Amino acid sequence: MATVVEPTEAVFEELTPTLTRAQAIIEADRCLECGGPYAVAPCVVSCPADVDVPGFLAAIAAGEPEAAARIVYAENLLGGTCARVCPVELLCEGACILHHEGRRPVEIGRLQRFACDAALSTGSSLRKRAPYNWLRVAVIGAGPAGLACAGELAALGYGVTVYDERLEPGGLVRYAIAPYRLQRDPLPAEARVLAELGVSFELGIAIDTPEALAEIEGDADTVVLAIGMGADADVRYPGDDLPGVWDSLPFIESIKTGHAPHIGDAVAVIGGGNTAVDVAREAVRLGAERVTMLYRRTREEMPAYPHEVDEAEDEGVRLEWLTVPVRFVGGVRLQAVECRRARLGEPDESGRRRPEEVPGTEFLLPVNTVVKAIGQRPRTEFLEFIEGLELDRGVIKVDPATGRTSNPRYFAAGDACNGGATVVEAVRQAKLVARAVHAAHDEGWR
Ligand SMILES: Cc1cc2nc3c(=O)[nH]c(=O)nc-3n(C[C@H](O)[C@H](O)[C@H](O)COP(=O)(O)OP(=O)(O)OC[C@H]3O[C@@H](n4cnc5c(N)ncnc54)[C@H](O)[C@@H]3O)c2cc1C
Ligand code: SF4
Repeated sequence: MATVVEPTEAVFEELTPTLTRAQAIIEADRCLECGGPYAVAPCVVSCPADVDVPGFLAAIAAGEPEAAARIVYAENLLGGTCARVCPVELLCEGACILHHEGRRPVEIGRLQRFACDAALSTGSSLRKRAPYNWLRVAVIGAGPAGLACAGELAALGYGVTVYDERLEPGGLVRYAIAPYRLQRDPLPAEARVLAELGVSFELGIAIDTPEALAEIEGDADTVVLAIGMGADADVRYPGDDLPGVWDSLPFIESIKTGHAPHIGDAVAVIGGGNTAVDVAREAVRLGAERVTMLYRRTREEMPAYPHEVDEAEDEGVRLEWLTVPVRFVGGVRLQAVECRRARLGEPDESGRRRPEEVPGTEFLLPVNTVVKAIGQRPRTEFLEFIEGLELDRGVIKVDPATGRTSNPRYFAAGDACNGGATVVEAVRQAKLVARAVHAAHDEGWR
C-alpha cells in the first residue's frame, strides 16, 4: 500500500465557499419570489426535497438566516449537506427564472449553505418532535436515506434506532463524495439535530447475519433498509495487484479520512461517470501533473454531468476517448497502462453504441497511479435472509409511491432501491417512506 501524506483538508479547498452575511443578503435579494397560490416557483418544482426556496431566500434577505434554515429543515433534514453536494446546476439553479431570462441564476445552493451553517453553529432548534407514539422503527444504514428517514420518523413521534457498520454517520457523503465539495462538516451537526429529535445511533455494528437481523426485527415494529450500494464493480485487468492500482471508493476514502496516498506525477482514471471525474479532479489537487481519463466511448455517451467534465478539463484533466485499458504494467510498482483504441458499433442494451476494440492499436500510457471508477455493485449479501424480499438486478424492488418492499414489514430508500442516484434523491425517497410508515400505522399497522 502507498505511503501516507497529511493533511488533506488544506489541499481540498471547497469549490463553493460560504458567503458572508452581507453577500448573502444582497444575493438573496435578487430572488423574484416567483410562484403563488396557482403556480409553484420553478426552483421548488425542480427540488426533489420540495424545499420552499423563495420562502427561505426571503428570510435571508430580511436578515433572518435561522428562520431561513428552519424553512429548509422543514423539508430537508440534510439541508446543509445538500447545499454543498447537490447538482444545483441541474436542479434549482438550472430552473431559476433568472437563468431563463439570460441572467445569472440566484445562488440557491450557497444561500442554503449560509442559512444552514448559521443555524447549525448556534445549535438552535430546527424541528419539533411529536409526542412519542410507542412504535419503534429500525433503520439499517446511516447514509443520507437512513438519516433523513430516521429524522422524519422521529419528528412524527416514532422511536427510531439507526444502525451502521461505520463509526461515523453519513454513508457515501462521509466516505466518498469529493472532499472539495464536503470533507466532513456539516454531518456531525446534522446528526446532532437528529439526535435531538430522538434518533438513537448504533454505529460500528454491521447487520449481516440472520441472528442480527432477527434481533432487530424483535425490537422494531418495522424496518427500513437504507443500505446503499456496495463496493466498486469487480472489473479485473492483468497487473491488478501492482501497488499504485486503486478502486475508486478506497482511493477517495483514504483522502477523506486524512490518509491521501502519494500518487506520483501521472495518474490515469478509468471510467466516464461522475465518480471518475471526481477522482480525476482530486488527483489534480493532490499534485499530479498529468491526469488522464480513459473512456471507452466518446464525450456524447459519457454519463458524467457535462458541466463537471468541462470544469475538470479547465483544471487540466485530459480525456482520452475511445480508449480501453488492456493491462497494468510494472515491476515493484505500476509504471504504465497498456491501452487499445476502440470504435463505436451498434447500440447495446443500454441504447448507447457499443465500443469495439481495434486490434493492433495498443499503446502505453506511462502512469504512477491508476484508479478504476467503473461503478458500484449492489449489496445483496444479507438481503437473502429477509423472507420474501424481491430484488431486481441486485437492487431492492419497492412500490415507488411508498418505498414498501415485497415483505410488508420492510421499507427501503436511497441507492439500495434506485441503483445509485444523488443525496437529495435519497432524501426524497426517505420522506416518502416516512410518510408511508406513518400512514400504515394510521391504518392499523401492516
Ligand atoms: C464517489 C461518489 C461521489 C458522489 N458525489 C455525489 C455528489 O456530489 N452529490 C450527490 O448528490 N450525490 C453524490 N453521490 C451519490 C450519493 O452519495 C448517494 O446517492 C447517496 O449517498 C445515497 O445514500 P444512501 O443512504 O442510499 O446510501 P449510502 O450513502 O451508501 O449509505 C448506506 C449506509 O449503509 C451502511 N450499511 C450498508 N449495509 C449495512 C449493513 N448490513 N449493516 C450496517 N450498515 C450497513 C453503509 O455502511 C452506509 O453507511 C456520489 C456517489 C459516489 C460513489
Ligand atoms: S426561480 Fe429563481 S427568482 Fe424565482 S423564486 Fe426561485 S430562486 Fe427566486
